[in-house]
Amino acid sequence: MSDLFRPSGPKIIAIANQKGGVGKTTTAINLGAALAEEGLNVLLIDLDPQGNASTGLGIFSEDRGLTTYDLLLDEAPLEEVIVKTNVEGLMIAPATTDLSSADIELVSNEKRSHLLHDALRHPGIDRFKFDYILIDCPPSLNLLTVNAMVAAHSVLVPLQSEFFALEGLSQLMLTIREIRQTANKGLRIEGVVLTMYDSRNNLSQQVEKDARDNLGDLVFRTVIPRNVRVSEAPSFSMPVLNYDSLSKGSQAYRSLGLELISRQAELA
Ligand code: ADP
Ligand code: MG
Repeated sequence: MSDLFRPSGPKIIAIANQKGGVGKTTTAINLGAALAEEGLNVLLIDLDPQGNASTGLGIFSEDRGLTTYDLLLDEAPLEEVIVKTNVEGLMIAPATTDLSSADIELVSNEKRSHLLHDALRHPGIDRFKFDYILIDCPPSLNLLTVNAMVAAHSVLVPLQSEFFALEGLSQLMLTIREIRQTANKGLRIEGVVLTMYDSRNNLSQQVEKDARDNLGDLVFRTVIPRNVRVSEAPSFSMPVLNYDSLSKGSQAYRSLGLELISRQAELA
């Protein structure tokens, strides 16, 4: 890991799209695994009450001790919430369904939008030397997603290669702009990644063309194909990179990881 660019201090990326089922969790798990494979230290924050990222990495609800609910609502220190996964270099702050009430419980808290921001900057995590912190957001633009965007340096948007994919993107961009004008001036859009792409399908090609025409370089060159191995991996409690290392899905997520790292290097 000598030749790859290592950002100073963790680079925090919120993986967000208010639509469900577009590949946020899959991208969080597998991009995390790809970065870890490069020798980087990665922390995944599960901010979705469904806890799919936690389950997909083999952290089952009965084994979960402190969770992201405790992190936000009880200000539990991050180092007491995070646990190792079976993937070398990849840790996770798990979530349980408790988190579903957090959105309402947070409303009366005056620090409600900044709780995750503060938690991720707790000096207690310095010893873990995280290079990347990826936040798996819930499928809505609620206070949890706002916390993620206030905490993050950038937002990565998975876009499912399907009809209506671009619809809803303007709402997401508006939210990002609002956060930039209020709580997090430096918030950038890391990029948009096309997921579940089927090159034999005209619709996928059309969505890709629309996205590239409208968003230009914001769209990652890497496209994640629809690949059954990707969807099977979570039931084996592992990223597709470990489940079937040579699958098309694994190769695509590795390529996305390298593209992300090289974009960081360009910005430095
Ligand atoms: P989100 O977190 O945005 O709700 P998920 O990552 O959970 O979306 O993905 C939704 C569903 O699509 C899951 O069942 C997942 O396994 C499947 N899926 C995601 N990406 C792919 C892919 N590249 N190929 C095949 N299935 C995929
Ligand atoms: Mg999800």
